[in-house]
Amino acid sequence: MSLSRLARSIAESPTLRLNEEARILRERGEDVINLGIGEPKNRAPITAILSAASKLSSGDVKYTPTDGLPSLKKAIIRYTEENYDRLPAPENVIVATGAKQAIHMLLFTLLNPQEEVIILAPYWVSYPEMIRMVGGVPVVVTPEDGTFQPRLKDIEQAVSGYTKAIILNSPNNPSGMVFPDAFVADLVALCERKNLYLITDDIYHKLVFDGKRAAPAYAFSTKDIDSSRIIVINGISKLYGMTGFRIGWAVGPRPIIEIMINVQAQTTSCASAVLQAGAEGALTGMQSFVESLRLTIQNNRDVVMQELAGVSSVVTARPEGAFYCLPDFRYYNGDSVALSEFLLKKALVVTVPGREFGMEGHLRLSYSGSVKELTEGVARIKWALNPNSPNEIYIGDRKLVRDWL
Ligand code: PMP
Repeated sequence: MSLSRLARSIAESPTLRLNEEARILRERGEDVINLGIGEPKNRAPITAILSAASKLSSGDVKYTPTDGLPSLKKAIIRYTEENYDRLPAPENVIVATGAKQAIHMLLFTLLNPQEEVIILAPYWVSYPEMIRMVGGVPVVVTPEDGTFQPRLKDIEQAVSGYTKAIILNSPNNPSGMVFPDAFVADLVALCERKNLYLITDDIYHKLVFDGKRAAPAYAFSTKDIDSSRIIVINGISKLYGMTGFRIGWAVGPRPIIEIMINVQAQTTSCASAVLQAGAEGALTGMQSFVESLRLTIQNNRDVVMQELAGVSSVVTARPEGAFYCLPDFRYYNGDSVALSEFLLKKALVVTVPGREFGMEGHLRLSYSGSVKELTEGVARIKWALNPNSPNEIYIGDRKLVRDWL
């Protein structure tokens, strides 16, 4: 069968694939613990549910303007003003079907074939594939010192005549790292100096722990939205636990948003009216919802760190935000794909191989689930890997005996 070479070269999303594998195993009655997917377990905020339900029951569910429902855009403008110290015009905002689609449209809008986008390892799995999908070239800058933060010097060296943009994701998926203010300031200055776009994927920006905050890139620029080279990506998936609503947005200079609107008009027309109404309900409802989710996740971070400390020879950098950690499992197995498969098969725990994020030898664990799942999940990992742990474990009422160490 003759299919597009480019389309065929796009890798499957490992997180969605693993999620599907876990679902199938569960359906078969297996007691799987999913530490793979990044998705809070809470119900959507009641204001989001009521707003979406009211839109649906009105029966008046039609196309919305391509750039989004005006009332949702108003809420996004207020959100931006409150959190970013910038007041966007409606022409600076486009609503999309998830932050993921917003990033894809943005890359399609920015890149000519062969132009490069710098991404920082460990990076979110979808960046390289989305860059390649629109004909661009991902250029990965990896920290040399075993930390999760590349040096500015290395980023600067990666800039070529083809570089168009840098993507910054802080708090970071998959490391949980929040980049220091000075680093973000340096990146903003670098982008301004070299005329590069700075795409900040802020999807986790309020999920920061221990009283810290992730300063927005705008804080280090004197420019307004239109004259700046910063484009902010955001959404409701993570902060409000509304992944299935599929609503995200981009805020940036008008000429960019204008072209993104044409791209959206010719592809999806607009995001769903019902779910945009839901997003509006989330943004205009009680914001203590986000704070209580943040506290739950921070507590989960503490639990997972404590449990991982009990797995000898596994080193875990303490996450400062988002809901992932990226422990180093090289002592047990340097091949993260093999290790992840082994843990799924033997211990029924889903993890995501670090290789997918440009960090081989690590596994990404998500702590967006329940404390019970976290403690049991890490206990199973310990049982599967560590010969000093008891060699029997109960999964539900099934006794498993370790016979491979
Ligand atoms: N960016 C990052 C860094 C993410 O982790 C995710 C979700 N896994 C997204 C974007 C996509 O979010 P959405 O559900 O809004 O498409």
